[in-house]
Amino acid sequence: VMGQMMSQPLLISNIIRHADRYFGNNEIVSRRVEGDIHRYTYRDCHRRARQLANALKDLGVKMGDRVATLAWNGYRHLEAYYAVSGSGAVLHTMNPRLHPDQIAYIANHAEDQYLLFELTFLPLIEAVASQCKTIKGFILLSDRDRMPAGSKIPNLMCYEDLVEAASPDYDWPQFDEDSASSLCYTSGTTGNPKGALYSHRSTLLHSYASAMPDALNVSSRDTVLPVVPMFHVNAWGLPYSVPLTGAKLVFPGPALDGKSLYELFEAEGVTFSAGVPTVWLGLLNHVAQNNLKFSSFKRTVIGGSACPPAMMKTLNDKYGVEVVHAWGMTEMSPLGTTCTLQSHHMTLPHEQQQALLEKQGHVIFGVDMKIVDDAGDELPWDGKTYGNLLVKGPWIINSYFKNEGGNVLEDGWFPTGDVATIDADGYMQITDRSKDVIKSGGEWIGSIDLENIAMAHPAVLQAACIGVFHPKWDERPLLVVVRRPGMDVSREELLAFYEGKIAKWWTPDDVAFIDALPIGATGKILKNRIRETFKDHVLP
Ligand code: ADP
Repeated sequence: VMGQMMSQPLLISNIIRHADRYFGNNEIVSRRVEGDIHRYTYRDCHRRARQLANALKDLGVKMGDRVATLAWNGYRHLEAYYAVSGSGAVLHTMNPRLHPDQIAYIANHAEDQYLLFELTFLPLIEAVASQCKTIKGFILLSDRDRMPAGSKIPNLMCYEDLVEAASPDYDWPQFDEDSASSLCYTSGTTGNPKGALYSHRSTLLHSYASAMPDALNVSSRDTVLPVVPMFHVNAWGLPYSVPLTGAKLVFPGPALDGKSLYELFEAEGVTFSAGVPTVWLGLLNHVAQNNLKFSSFKRTVIGGSACPPAMMKTLNDKYGVEVVHAWGMTEMSPLGTTCTLQSHHMTLPHEQQQALLEKQGHVIFGVDMKIVDDAGDELPWDGKTYGNLLVKGPWIINSYFKNEGGNVLEDGWFPTGDVATIDADGYMQITDRSKDVIKSGGEWIGSIDLENIAMAHPAVLQAACIGVFHPKWDERPLLVVVRRPGMDVSREELLAFYEGKIAKWWTPDDVAFIDALPIGATGKILKNRIRETFKDHVLP
């Protein structure tokens, strides 16, 4: 017997239509590349998204065609999110921090038809336009008066001209919810990037699930500023989950330095934000150096790489900002786990609660996970045994775009490439990426633990731990440290700092000081580059 409920496809256009109809006057505020602050409402956004959908139709964009963006977090990018996917085309968000050759590779691989880009990236587009074989036109996200004169970019169009000339009369088409909606390539630190092709269904399910209280906990009373970029994994789904709840949206544009972010947080009354650990460094430095406080900021999600407990403590104890640690991947839309306490944890001593909150957390309903050994056998959930982490769920890829890399699943599970423990309550903790694990005498040492301890030292700004060659143990840990400006700490002091905090044999063998750690296109520390730099390092 079949259920007797209406069958309606879960489509991305439903979100913006809903935001217009029920939260039409709620605001979207953006700092623009032009430097000024732009504000309008969900109603305005929906109207302009429909105009853009008409403009794209007139340009010949059809269902399934890829339309690329190279843009910051802002209202025009949001309009593209809804116009492109809503009309049945596929939004291909590109990461401007990738190497120009990689950008051209991705544009060709995706067979992009049009590219929408921001003024910042004009030189980049001028450099790569001739290599992009399938792009029929380049659309500059700008007013007519900022269009460059005499640019060599072929078929360069003005976004505002296109939108303003188009009619807002547009009925969002209805189609199969499993249709592709957007495309994001993994950072490709080794080999060419591979595409994760999301669907309308996966995006909507991810949006519902990620808004829940123990996940991102977004409500209509929030003011949300996504620091995490819309050019990478859809800013963790916030451009969908926030309009779905009706919350006010604030976009920082290109200004991600501590001062600009702080000013926007305060001016707009931001209550909730999200980003990778490295972006909070700048904001926290600015706030500390100028003796500032946050007057509205209540909660932030931090993920993408392990959040150092010291950062969590500063945000929590000093500024009253609750940190929710989250874990996920491009291949997972991206959210897999978030870490919050349950009622039976409320009576635990503070330190035990803290230790729990440092984990990557609990799955969001929809995602299932397990840890296995190298033979593929499932390992116990005791919080100690670590193994390869596998996941499944309706917003996790079953294959890469164009089947790159062939069959990636293992018995229907996606291997994350992460090594983790799971405790009896189902809280997962990442010990390492499998390629970053330090193998000492056949035993594994988790680099994240070693980094977290170093980061708790007051003179340490950033730390990364890598394995370097050792004649007896194969590999031993080397701690690579960036000191806080104006502060000093010696190798011996840092090594002594590990005493009593960790098994003695896990203590790094040596410390190297450098001026800055290499940061990749998604704001993460590039361990492979550090390994390359220190490949000939001789341990004492
Ligand atoms: P994204 O760019 O969305 O973070 P990537 O696919 O580039 O996705 O990277 C995913 C990887 O990042 C994960 O497999 C994991 O190694 C790492 N990662 C993400 N979140 C965390 C976290 N909270 N703690 C530790 N590692 C994390």
